[in-house]
Amino acid sequence: MPVPVPTLQVALPVPLPRLFDYLPPPGIAAAEVAVGQRVRVPFGSRELCGVVLGHGEAAPGVELRAALALPDPAPLLHGELLASLRWLAGYLHAPVGEVLATALPAALRRGEPLPDTTRHGWVLSEAGRTALPGLRAGKPRALAEQLVDPRDEDWLDATLPGWRAPLRRLRERGLVARIVLPDAPAPAPRTAAFSPNPEQQAAIAAITAAQGFTPFLLEGVTGSGKTEVYLQAIAACLARGRQALVLVPEIGLTPQMLARFRDRLGVSVLALHSGLGDGERAAAWLAAARGQARVIVGTRSAVFVPLPEPGLVVVDEEHDGSYKQFDGIRYQARDFALVRARALGVPVVLGSATPSLESLHNAQAGRYVHLRLRQRAGAAQPPPVRVVDVRKRPLQAGLSPQALEAIASALAAGGQVLVFRNRRGYAPVLLCHDCGWSAHCPRCSSEERPMPMTVHAQGKRLQCHHCGYRKPAPPACPDCASLALQPQGNGTERIEEALQARFADVPVLRIDRGSTGHRDALQRHFDALGTRPGILVGTQMLAKGHDLPNLTLVVVVGIDEGLFSADFRSGEKLAQLLVQVSGRAGRAARAGEVLVQTHHPEHPLLQTLLRGGYPAFAQAELALREAAGLPPFAHMALLRAEARHAEPPQQFLQAARQALQGFALEVAGPLPAPMPRRAGHVRAQLVLCANARAPLHVALQAVMPVLYALPEARRVRWSLDVDPADL
Ligand code: ADP
Ligand code: ZN
Ligand code: ZN
Repeated sequence: MPVPVPTLQVALPVPLPRLFDYLPPPGIAAAEVAVGQRVRVPFGSRELCGVVLGHGEAAPGVELRAALALPDPAPLLHGELLASLRWLAGYLHAPVGEVLATALPAALRRGEPLPDTTRHGWVLSEAGRTALPGLRAGKPRALAEQLVDPRDEDWLDATLPGWRAPLRRLRERGLVARIVLPDAPAPAPRTAAFSPNPEQQAAIAAITAAQGFTPFLLEGVTGSGKTEVYLQAIAACLARGRQALVLVPEIGLTPQMLARFRDRLGVSVLALHSGLGDGERAAAWLAAARGQARVIVGTRSAVFVPLPEPGLVVVDEEHDGSYKQFDGIRYQARDFALVRARALGVPVVLGSATPSLESLHNAQAGRYVHLRLRQRAGAAQPPPVRVVDVRKRPLQAGLSPQALEAIASALAAGGQVLVFRNRRGYAPVLLCHDCGWSAHCPRCSSEERPMPMTVHAQGKRLQCHHCGYRKPAPPACPDCASLALQPQGNGTERIEEALQARFADVPVLRIDRGSTGHRDALQRHFDALGTRPGILVGTQMLAKGHDLPNLTLVVVVGIDEGLFSADFRSGEKLAQLLVQVSGRAGRAARAGEVLVQTHHPEHPLLQTLLRGGYPAFAQAELALREAAGLPPFAHMALLRAEARHAEPPQQFLQAARQALQGFALEVAGPLPAPMPRRAGHVRAQLVLCANARAPLHVALQAVMPVLYALPEARRVRWSLDVDPADL
């Protein structure tokens, strides 16, 4: 009887919901290959790197290709992390190979060999010790004198810049030897902990006493000392010999924040963020996997680091939108952090001054332990908020006379001012005053929905904020040739220009994605300003991050669009933004003030927020969501489709709708997407809504294979978004 052939089942980074069978690489038996090992395989005419997820058998005679090689001797993904990632693939109904590829740092995903995370150093050899007294004065001798003791390469970089050239000379003569050093000795903590106030103390005690998986919602007003609570809970976790993972929003991970962790904790604190190179990311991931990194502080994708000795997971600013990935594998890092903490059996702390309604709902339902910090730590006082009614008031670059007066007096008193406007560029629209023509993006506009292009560079350039398309601004109206082209409305650039003209004797700095691409650039801006009186103008990049002890006035301009948006989450986002921005004022000893300009001072959102703060707003909003059957009282998924022409997305979504019939969920659509056209593609969507998670997942489980097989699927780009952040 013919014998079946043992095979490897491999997850590959391709958009197909299945594993692929391969013979093991030549000379290796399938049984010798472990689940979780990386494997390089031929795929069509390409070569891909995948992960072995199982063993199978092929009937004799079936033609299978053989894998090419195994980059590592042991599994790279295993235990809790591999299990959690497989769970995530199931939850998102996404191909497991793509989920695993998303979780791995790019260099490892491409199949590159593991980077070396051992520390190397140099020391004089026997010959070197003998030769040292006879060496001529000069750089090699100066280096040799240092290498009487073993020295770490990082230490040499810091202490003797340019040491590599003299080292080569010593090495050629056999006077030095390269050595492997033991793990870095813990740097001594340089700052002491504050003695916590009673609320902080209660929070620290609860987190530290938690046994096993325990989710906490730490709701604390800005400046209430949440970070201090994290630091002391992490210190207790480290003292038990455990690792801590801290997730922070994209704009929250400042050098200042990292320095605070490093100075306090006395262990190696590893940063993981998009600013690192591929090699650095891979090395950081591996340092966590090997237990060398004791504290990992990172943005969204840091939720995928292996934690062999887990003790605590923290998600700072858990409401922040940057935790949701918006393309590819659309995971929510906060939610996945909870899944991992459960699997790891450790406490998880979600911290925020403005918790998401999802987390508040979970806390109120008793699923999370609700910890509160109601007061600002230390001497700081919460700033009073004043709503400025700008109806019928003369505005200068969008600023009211009251705002300009308040800015002048704050500066005169030696304070700093933050002017917040969530619109980059010079002006949102370029309009012809004679005929009404306005500039629209040719790639994103449709007949029903023209998309204005933003004016940049004082009116010289037009740019689409949705697809990135740019062009020079026309010198005259393309329709009527009039020269009366006027930028309408105010972006951060124009506000900056107006403030520079008016307050010429102080620095005016603009902070937005246009002016401040890199996180270090942000730091340089703040450093340049120092504690002098001055004005910062910016978008939500300013809402969180750097502590500005001298900031005494916050002016919020142009929030009215957010009051009337179609997205059911826009109210929540606006309330969070207002509270977060306001929280930047009066962080330290100097008292602060907040001015909010609006044409709708009586709007319920503003009124509730003003009278009862974020908790009152959240209660009112939760009641509305419950009445409307919206998340967190319902569970949603979004099926998106786009193509160059309108019909294929319609046809695909119609077919999907058919397939979803008979399941216990509401299906709405096909509807045009919020941006019905973008970068030349027509976009539509189907909204799936159920009153519980289970029926939604039962339906998706059954229908996804059908969708992949639909002939209509081949003519569109489609994707599923479980728990979408925007509709
Ligand atoms: P949050 O993270 O809630 O915004 P932080 O932890 O950054 O607050 O604390 C705000 C400020 O108060 C920081 O400057 C911090 O050093 C200080 N602080 C925190 N806890 C205490 C305390 N118990 N006593 C005195 N100052 C504190
Ligand atoms: Zn015109
Ligand atoms: Zn565009």
